[in-house]
Amino acid sequence: MITTTTEKLAGGCACGAVRYRMTSAPMFVHCCHCLDCQRQTGSAFVLNALIEAARVETLGADPVRFEMPTESGRPHGIYRCPQCGTAVWSEYGGLATIRFVRVGTLDDPRAVVPDVHIYVRSKQPWVALPEGVPAFDAYYDSRKVWPAESLERRRAVIR
Ligand SMILES: [Zn+2]
Ligand SMILES: [Zn+2]
Repeated sequence: MITTTTEKLAGGCACGAVRYRMTSAPMFVHCCHCLDCQRQTGSAFVLNALIEAARVETLGADPVRFEMPTESGRPHGIYRCPQCGTAVWSEYGGLATIRFVRVGTLDDPRAVVPDVHIYVRSKQPWVALPEGVPAFDAYYDSRKVWPAESLERRRAVIR
């Protein structure tokens, strides 16, 4: 969910070499508590705003892809600033048309709120989930959870 206008949806890396802007609200926002995300961020969870790659304008340096090992064997690339290494987004499953933008890299990270909590089975025990936001032990069926408009947007970029 988006709490503000898209003007707030600009972001970038720690050194400022990578800058980007989302040109619309994301389709959906994940808070992922899986162990891979914990390891790869060094934190308790990751916040990913799922949005069409075509709706992310990149300014400045192009992020560099780092290949992550995955249990499923499906590709996961994390895109990082070539200078400071900040992770700005991920691509999953070799799907280049959808980006998982790291919400914490937004200039106003509070502008975007999680729509779903996933992999709650490995959630840190002290993290309390909010009432009224769907939460799943592992992954989930987006067809049952996403708003119709977001499903439509996703269909348009997955062939
Ligand atoms: Zn940087
Ligand atoms: Zn995860």
